[in-house]
Amino acid sequence: MDSIDVVVIGAGAAGMMCAIEAGKRGRKVLVIDHAPSPGEKIRISGGGRCNFTNIHASPKNFISQNPHFCISALKRYTQHDFVALVERHGIAFHEKTLGQLFCDGSAMQVINMLTGEMKRSGAALSLSTAAERIEKTDGGFALTLSGGVPVRCASLVVASGGKSIPKMGATGFGYDVAARFGLRTVETRPALVPLTFEPNTLERLRPLAGIAVDAVVSCGKTQFSEAMLFTHRGISGPAILQISSYWREGQEIGIAMLPEVNVFEALRQARAQNGKQAVQTALAAFLPKKLAQTVTQTLGQEFGASTLAEMSDKTLRRVEAAVNGWRIKPSGSEGYRTAEVTLGGVDTRDLDSRTMEAKGVPGLYFIGEVVDVTGWLGGYNFQWAWSSGWCAGQYA
Ligand SMILES: Cc1cc2nc3c(=O)[nH]c(=O)nc-3n(C[C@H](O)[C@H](O)[C@H](O)COP(=O)(O)OP(=O)(O)OC[C@H]3O[C@@H](n4cnc5c(N)ncnc54)[C@H](O)[C@@H]3O)c2cc1C
Repeated sequence: MDSIDVVVIGAGAAGMMCAIEAGKRGRKVLVIDHAPSPGEKIRISGGGRCNFTNIHASPKNFISQNPHFCISALKRYTQHDFVALVERHGIAFHEKTLGQLFCDGSAMQVINMLTGEMKRSGAALSLSTAAERIEKTDGGFALTLSGGVPVRCASLVVASGGKSIPKMGATGFGYDVAARFGLRTVETRPALVPLTFEPNTLERLRPLAGIAVDAVVSCGKTQFSEAMLFTHRGISGPAILQISSYWREGQEIGIAMLPEVNVFEALRQARAQNGKQAVQTALAAFLPKKLAQTVTQTLGQEFGASTLAEMSDKTLRRVEAAVNGWRIKPSGSEGYRTAEVTLGGVDTRDLDSRTMEAKGVPGLYFIGEVVDVTGWLGGYNFQWAWSSGWCAGQYA
């Protein structure tokens, strides 16, 4: 039976970072992954360019039942530490928007950097390999890997990610391991995911598919100011993905499609200058034409044809509310099929925030997306993977 110090389950962002750090400490590390190649989510991330961190990353960009849990890890391995690593490897990058850092070239550069660092630190990688059985032993853990291969290790690091994109092999594996060892989990749900509409609303809004606007989207007290996109199933785009992490079934979301424009004043001015124009024509000065048409149609058929001169201030206020105070109740989300991350996961009450070790199970660690720490859109989720992976790598 092969004896190893640390087995890491999952060669994703968190698992590879942990393996590098544990390897540097002289630990004998084996990383296993059931996929045939490492870092598949890194490869497809950021449209193939990997938004690998965010220069503004701070604990307020993360959602968790315990918002304080992520503070220690984010402080000890920061976005600047990861940027320094990327720079040492000569990977060119740029800030796209809102502090989001992307590779100039390809996400493969980040994967190659991590696998190269793993090799240098002596960590071994076994692909197309799953852990079929995991047992606790006196000194650590006994695992049976694919093909019945037995392995013993002192530390076991679960870095198997969340449930998003099952087509890529994502399962609830990490949560099952947590449950087996008596750790609690916070209910999981798809996050950073497009929202859908019921058939009647969809029918009305379908002609808008493909149209994008810079919007302010809100749910309760939370709001995001980013682009929003109408789709064939509902709404998407960064602002919607962000709010999806806060939205719950049955809730309404608020949308301002022209947040920078005082629509009432703009329409009053348009009425004074050219009262003969239809309201939708006046709105089309600010919004895509089809969207201006649909907005006025939602107020009633007569609105489309009405001229501004025929409209009272009260009516103009209604138009303004339809544009900047749109309230809509999504029927659901596109689910794990397209969600970028999984909200919830291993309950942070059962983990040590400094080491990521399970409180009641010495030698068992959980890192990355499997933990109940979920970042906003914009490089934050990878930063959590790097930070939590780095921390566990100092102790595993
Ligand atoms: C389309 C898409 C785009 C994204 N873009 C970005 C972005 O640009 N920036 C950002 O910050 N975040 C992005 N994310 C989120 C980010 O990819 C994840 O938060 C991050 O990859 C989580 O890292 P992880 O190491 O915890 O898990 P993962 O990267 O999911 O890695 C888990 C690994 O474990 C393996 N595994 C799972 N179960 C088992 C098992 N039973 N046995 C063996 N191996 C197993 C998997 O094959 C996988 O390789 C994106 C996500 C998606 C889906």
